[in-house]
Amino acid sequence: MAERLVGIARLAATGASLDSKREVEYRQLPTFKLLNRCTSPDMPFDWTINPYRGCEIGCKYCYARYTHEFMERREPDAFEREIFAKQWNRADFLKDLRRIEPGSRIAIGTATDPYQPAERRYGVTRSILEVFAERSGYRVGITTKSDFVTRDIDVLRAASRGNRVSVHLTITTVDAALARKLEPRAPRPDLRLAAVKRLSEAGIDVGVFASPVLPLITDSDAQLEALFAAARDAGARFVVANPVFLMPCALRVFLPFLETEFPRLATRYRDRFTKQPYLRGDYAERLRGRIARLRERFGMASRSESRDDAPWPETAQLSLF
Ligand code: SF4
Repeated sequence: MAERLVGIARLAATGASLDSKREVEYRQLPTFKLLNRCTSPDMPFDWTINPYRGCEIGCKYCYARYTHEFMERREPDAFEREIFAKQWNRADFLKDLRRIEPGSRIAIGTATDPYQPAERRYGVTRSILEVFAERSGYRVGITTKSDFVTRDIDVLRAASRGNRVSVHLTITTVDAALARKLEPRAPRPDLRLAAVKRLSEAGIDVGVFASPVLPLITDSDAQLEALFAAARDAGARFVVANPVFLMPCALRVFLPFLETEFPRLATRYRDRFTKQPYLRGDYAERLRGRIARLRERFGMASRSESRDDAPWPETAQLSLF
């Protein structure tokens, strides 16, 4: 079968099985380039690094499931059950890094979580950060839902000396029971907030990505206020929050989830998102206004770096996971 596949699908088929636990299988993905160019003007970064392919955390709204479809893995849960660790080659990575412009904005974790359980085994994310710790002049943003990021405080501090490094903990709700439903294998929100606190106390630029905001599930005034208050108390410097978008690959998981957990919302979501994956217009405007007021009230910045640099525009949800 592997002979008929091409590109990433062929590589995925030939990668040796590394291990499997519960229903999760870990495989190695032969990788020629860890740095991928992002040419979209809407994205707040120039390059992306995704140390893994697939994500065991398994958020119900995850948009990145399509990345497994490129490898001909089309079952709805394949993305969270078959995790590929990219092959680490320090010399190749250094060669790639030398080719990119100084000051480039590099986002780690745009289509997978760099601190998902696989990182404990394979350490690809740490290996990458160790390289940045020896170099300077880059702007590196790391997005995660895992408090395991605190393992790397030493290397994050070292990398921050010569680069602009920021860490973004994604926390969509402070309600642990709701988070467990939405993000089944992510650490609890209080653990993520504790990670924000530890990073902040270690002098690392850290903020909260409160995205995606889910209409009628996580978007009440009380829920958002509680989230902002918790972020402030943990020492977050900024909070970013944008509404959910649901591409067809995400809808295939999210709609059955709604039918089970929030049946009264299923029809509304289906009607809204099957026509158009993005929430635009009135809802997006009102949410933007509410978030701006909350930022002002809780003294939070709107992005991870100064307004002059504007490296993290708030229009792109890709940066928020
Ligand atoms: S949203 Fe992020 S953390 Fe959740 S499954 Fe997708 S990549 Fe993983």
